[in-house]
Amino acid sequence: MNIKKRIDITKRGYRLLGKYCPGLIRAKVLAVTAATILPFAAILFSARIINEIAGEKRTGILILYVCLTIGLTFVFHLIKNAFERQASEKEAGMWNYFSKIFSDKQMSMDFADLEDVTVQKKRQKAQENLFMFGNGLAQLVWDTTGLVEVFVGIVASVSLTFTLFVSKTGNGVLDSFLWIPGLFLIMALAGIINSRFRKKENEVFEKWMDGTVWYNRTFMFYGHELYSNIARAKDVRLYRQDFTADREMQKLEDHNLKDNASLAKMSGYKGKTVLVLGVANALCYMYVVAKAGFGAFAVGSIVQYVGALMKLIESITEMFEVVSENRIYTEHLDKLYDYLDIDSERHEGNEKIKEDPQKDLTIEFKDVSFKYPGTENFVLKNISTKLKIGKKQAFVGANGAGKTTFVKLLCRLYDPTKGQILLNGKDIKEYDLKEYMKLFSFVFQDFKIFAFPLGQNISADLSYDKEKALECIKKVSLSDRYEKMEDGLETYLYKDVSEKGVNISGGEAQKIALARALYKDAPIIVLDEPTAALDPIAEAQVYSDFNSLVNNKTAVYISHRLSSCQFCDEILVFDKGEIVQRGTHNELVNDKGGKYFELWNAQAQYYK
Ligand code: ADP
Repeated sequence: MNIKKRIDITKRGYRLLGKYCPGLIRAKVLAVTAATILPFAAILFSARIINEIAGEKRTGILILYVCLTIGLTFVFHLIKNAFERQASEKEAGMWNYFSKIFSDKQMSMDFADLEDVTVQKKRQKAQENLFMFGNGLAQLVWDTTGLVEVFVGIVASVSLTFTLFVSKTGNGVLDSFLWIPGLFLIMALAGIINSRFRKKENEVFEKWMDGTVWYNRTFMFYGHELYSNIARAKDVRLYRQDFTADREMQKLEDHNLKDNASLAKMSGYKGKTVLVLGVANALCYMYVVAKAGFGAFAVGSIVQYVGALMKLIESITEMFEVVSENRIYTEHLDKLYDYLDIDSERHEGNEKIKEDPQKDLTIEFKDVSFKYPGTENFVLKNISTKLKIGKKQAFVGANGAGKTTFVKLLCRLYDPTKGQILLNGKDIKEYDLKEYMKLFSFVFQDFKIFAFPLGQNISADLSYDKEKALECIKKVSLSDRYEKMEDGLETYLYKDVSEKGVNISGGEAQKIALARALYKDAPIIVLDEPTAALDPIAEAQVYSDFNSLVNNKTAVYISHRLSSCQFCDEILVFDKGEIVQRGTHNELVNDKGGKYFELWNAQAQYYK
């Protein structure tokens, strides 16, 4: 990766940090600046004090130097501590904010992309680079310390050593200006050699990391997911999947043992680095002492020059480290951006819905065909139909006929591959998505109830109308269960978030999902088989009960069980992605050559 790209990636990293962890970098920079200047103040005034004691011994001046040393140390300490505390408070929450980067992206992404395998791989890579190895954004935060230390350290130490090089001893060799480039060369060399070793160390680390990805995933799955996910607990026990888990975990152990060799190699490189730095330090020391010996400056200045030169070597070495670290974390950040840069293709307009949706609303599918991204076959073919205001429609047909896909297009999880969906004559893509979604209450087959309080689940909001929530609970016949909930609407569901959470049965969850749909009070309600766990007769009961609750609304009921939807004004029969029949139950059941008749007879055994 070239330098320009690395600079761009780093700058973008700081912008991300500014957005998600505001104030963190500022606090860190100020804390490190104060911490880096601190020893220089001590070095400078210690030298002055020793020179004064060895020279004129002026009491006033000595007191001034001592006061300055104590005062400056105190002030810098104060600044350092204040900002360090601020930085560490912010750093503690940093990982949560990083998670927010992902949740924001997930929410803003096209639904179609969420299912895309390449996108999922990119997300996984980005997450691994951000969380597992701590080498993405976190490294940028940690390396900011190094960057500031280098900058402040070089400026301060060069200012303090300037007089070392211009002071004269009268000795031609020691006074030669060649010492300046010479010493800098040695320091740079130490830095370069150090960074070479670091690079090798990193290569070993990278290789180790690549080899670890699979094991980490396995570990995450078998170590956490398999046992913590209660939904899997039954099967894990019945089929003793803990044996498989143990075997996979053993593989991880074996891998780690092998890795110890790589890690030992890394510490070998560290040892060599220390040796190179030792040589550079010794040379600088000798030069300063020799100059002092020849009387170029007072003996106290040795403290200043040696101290500053050591700091200079440290800073130069650190500079190379900062650069090589940057090489590593920019690679990691690049993977993060790969994911963040996935473009949203969904077109969103800003058109508002002007008509009264209760009275004046038509949704029309006009010759709509659809195939899922990355697949070959059309699962909806030339669908043309209208949702009629105030009417109850049913979509029936065998599993896989395309009913749910129709609904996914209706709620804009996907866009049609061909054709258009029109709302009052205008393509639904032209409408503001939030406004458009207000038209619908959906209850899907695989609806989810969240581990939040009951009231929050029903209202899908943090603050809500309690009376209205209670009314919905009553309507879906959940009152008996509700009475037993100690904290009422504030009762947490499931135990994931609160220990006091209550478990609910599948049937209760389904009632909560229906209550959520009622609470939204949208003009169009779509129930897509949220009753799959029920038998056909119970499902038919739920549908007709629900229908009487939403009497004046437009509703779509979906089922592969024909008996559930007999009460509807119109039934659309889906078969292999097409609408092959439509009419009332009586009309359809009497059409002996039709699909409905065929399905009805096949299913009749369940409800005769
Ligand atoms: P129904 O609701 O009538 O049971 P669906 O609309 O769920 O049918 O499915 C229609 C077809 O689309 C099926 O063949 C199904 O396998 C396929 N399908 C559903 N979801 C996806 C998806 N995310 N990616 C690819 N194919 C899908």
